[in-house]
This record gives sequence, structure tokens and C-alpha cells, in this order.
Amino acid sequence: MITVPFLDLKRQNQELARDLEQATFRVVQSGRYLLGPETEAFEDEFASAVGARYCVAVANGLEALMIALKALHVGPGDEVLVPTNTFVATWLAVTLVGAEVVGIEPDPETMVIRAETLEASVTPRTRAVIPVHLYGRPCPMPEIVSWARHHGIAVIEDAAQAHGAQWAHQPVGAFGDAGCWSFYPSKNLGALGDAGAITTNDRGVWDLARRLRNYGSREKYHHDVIGWNSRMSEMNAAILRVKLRTLSEWNQRRQILAHRYVERLQNLPLVLPPLDTLEQSVWHLFVIRTPRRNALQQFLLDHGVETQIHYPIPPHRQRAYRHSFDKDCFPLANRLAAEVLSLPLGPYLSLAEVDYVTEVLHQFFDEEKGEAGYEYSAL
Ligand SMILES: *Cc1c(COP(=O)(O)O)cnc(C)c1O
Repeated sequence: MITVPFLDLKRQNQELARDLEQATFRVVQSGRYLLGPETEAFEDEFASAVGARYCVAVANGLEALMIALKALHVGPGDEVLVPTNTFVATWLAVTLVGAEVVGIEPDPETMVIRAETLEASVTPRTRAVIPVHLYGRPCPMPEIVSWARHHGIAVIEDAAQAHGAQWAHQPVGAFGDAGCWSFYPSKNLGALGDAGAITTNDRGVWDLARRLRNYGSREKYHHDVIGWNSRMSEMNAAILRVKLRTLSEWNQRRQILAHRYVERLQNLPLVLPPLDTLEQSVWHLFVIRTPRRNALQQFLLDHGVETQIHYPIPPHRQRAYRHSFDKDCFPLANRLAAEVLSLPLGPYLSLAEVDYVTEVLHQFFDEEKGEAGYEYSAL
């Protein structure tokens, strides 16, 4: 039987093995392991890739969000607008800096938030909005930024799944006041361990974020603000510099595979992700929707195809948030959690593998069609 892994990072990194080894060796030899030349070079290179003036490398994506919130002076007593269908880190960052999460339901088609749904949730305490470019698809940033500017609300992009994504040819991560990145190994740009970054055009945000990541210090042994230890290692900075060079090529491969999926799944009773219009997704995940999700996932697994669910439990239904949110308060997030399924996708995957996955999907729905009681119109 053919097996298609959901994610094979070894296969992905193999392609760059020689360059990664050289970069690693260079760092070992250098004697500098934190806040050295590799980190500085990565910050410059990543800022220019994003079209931002500044970049601050940090330890992970969660702390990138927390530091960005702090650098924009968001804290206790403030409310932050956050999508209801995101990875829990977006919510945790808000909670951990002492602010309150206000959940925003996404657009059901694109699964990211839009400006017009924000208005109803604004109060005098609203201080920031965090659009999440979920699954690699950019939020409509121009309308979100102009809406936020009108209300005096800060915009922090959660770009942890969207390295290289663009809205109308402008890369995400520099539209608002800060862009937050994760380089967790499975992201489109992934380190060999935890790493993250903040991009910004605002010198004040840049300066405060740099201090916050390093014990609140600008000058050794002088601590002007209460900071973290959230530094990126020189090793990961060197590795990310190598991988940044292939990012756009790898994103193009993802796009080709995503288009193949759409082409081959067109006639099935599934909700497919929309293809690009103004936005250019980088297809971090290829997510389909069906009420038959659980049966389909099992069928695919029985035929050697690994899939995942992003995410099976929305943040408001997590035990951690049980005292703050009713489990039925966000019906769309609940519905998405029951229906979404992520198919295998990555730069290492072949068209033949995608075709095999689509054949298995066709087989599943052919067999379903034979069974009474299944209504296509349920979609
Ligand atoms: C991965 C991710 C994060 C957190 O990044 P870490 O580096 O794991 O802390 C935050 N938001 C989103 C949307 C993510 O996918």
C-alpha cells in the first residue's frame, strides 16, 4: 500500500543538508551562540523579505505575540480582538499579558477574519486586533488596518503560518504595528527547534521589543523594563538564513500542489479552500470541510494517507478557558472544529502523491453515494 505522510521534515531538510551542515559548523566554530552576527544578519534578511523596516528575533511565536503586545502597551484592563478559530497560542498571548480575549468569528469561506465583523465587538477598552493569516491565507489587511486606524486600535498580525504570503503583492507582516512569526519546525519557514520573530516599521516597537526579549536590557546590567529571556539561538538564526533562501521556491511548490488538489476534488461534496484572488496564500495547510470528516479521516488512514485536524477543539472550549467562555458562544468555530480536515501538503510532496490522495477521496465519496441517507445537499 502507498503511504503518504502528513509531514516529513526529514525529507524536507535533506534537500538542504549540505548547506545546513555548513551553517551549523560555522556557528560551532564562531564561539558566539546568542545575540551575535547570525541573529543580526537573519533580522536584516527577514525584515527585507517581509518589507519591514525592523525585525527582532525571539525564542518562539508565543513570545513574539506577547512581546509585541507589551511593546504596544497592551495589558490588564485592555480587550484584544482575536479570531475564534486559531491555534490556542494567539489567545494565550493575550491572556498571559493580562488582557482580555474578545473572540471574532471568521469568514466561513476564507476562514480568516474581515474588517466588517469587528465593529460589533468594539468597546472603549478595545486596544488591539490580532488578524491571524490562518493556514497561510492572508487576512484582508488593507481594510482591517484602515478600520483599526479609524478606531485608534493597534494591529498585530499573527503571521506564524504565513511566511511569504502576500495581499495584493504586499507581503504580510508589515501591514500593521507589528507582525509576529513562529519558526516552529513544521512552519513554512521552520528552524531546528523553537524560534520566532517580530517585524515592524515602528522604531519605538522595535526598540522596546529588543529590550523585552533580553531581560529588559539595552545595555548590559541595566534593566529599564520588566523583560523576558526570549532570545533566538545563533544556531537557529544560521539555519533560518539558509532556509529563507528557498522559502519562495518551496511556497511555489505548495501552491502547485494546492491547485492540483482543487482541480481534482472539484466535483466532490466538499468545501474546498478558495483559490487566490487578491490574496496569495502560501498554503501552510490544505484544509477541506465536510460533515463526514471523522469517517473520511479514518478511510484515508486505512488507505495510507495521514491527515490532521487544525484544530479539533477551539480555544474557547479548552479547559484553560472554561471559566471565561461558554462552550456554545462561538457556533462557527465549533462547526469548523467538527468539519475541517488538513490533507498532506509540503514542498517535499509529489504530484503523484497528491493524485493518490485525491483518488482515495473519490473512492470514499463513491462508496458513500451508494449508501442511503447521505444527502449532498447537507452542504
Ligand atoms: C505556531 C503558531 C503560533 C505559536 O508559535 P510557537 O513558535 O509554537 O510558539 C502562534 N500562532 C499561530 C497561528 C501558530 O500557528
